[in-house]
Amino acid sequence: MREQDCIFCKIVAGELPARIVDEDELTIAFMDIAPATRGHALVIPRNHAADLLDVGPEDLAGTAIAAARLAARAKERLGADGVNLLNACGSAAWQTVFHFHIHVIPRYEDDPLRLPWVPAVGDPAEIQAAAQELGRE
Ligand code: 5GP
Ligand code: ZN
Repeated sequence: MREQDCIFCKIVAGELPARIVDEDELTIAFMDIAPATRGHALVIPRNHAADLLDVGPEDLAGTAIAAARLAARAKERLGADGVNLLNACGSAAWQTVFHFHIHVIPRYEDDPLRLPWVPAVGDPAEIQAAAQELGRE
């Protein structure tokens, strides 16, 4: 259940170094090499899956639970004021490593991160049209 050239599979196998901060039967969590804020970590399933749409339900649930555990720890131990969980699914959505992962990004009142979009009320007809395409048939 690993992919030969996947860097995160190599971290799971201990073939690439990583600063591991948590692990359980299904997942491991390690520090991001290029942190957005202090304490930025990644949680991944031990089994390889390319992205959110590829990961099985058990590994997805395990990864989400581990991410929540780490989020709580970021508040308790790092004094984070909040936490963002982020998943990038597909290169259009900023994914660069194609082994499913959830970013756990501790947030601080004075950190420099900003929303990547400017919230503005949308066109109701367009929202309705998208809802119709997205909704259950
Ligand atoms: P993505 O862009 O796919 O959502 O996130 C990939 C993340 O993996 C990035 O935040 C990047 O900094 C991190 N990353 C890439 N290569 C390595 C590595 O070799 N070790 C660690 N610890 N993080 C990595
Ligand atoms: Zn992998």
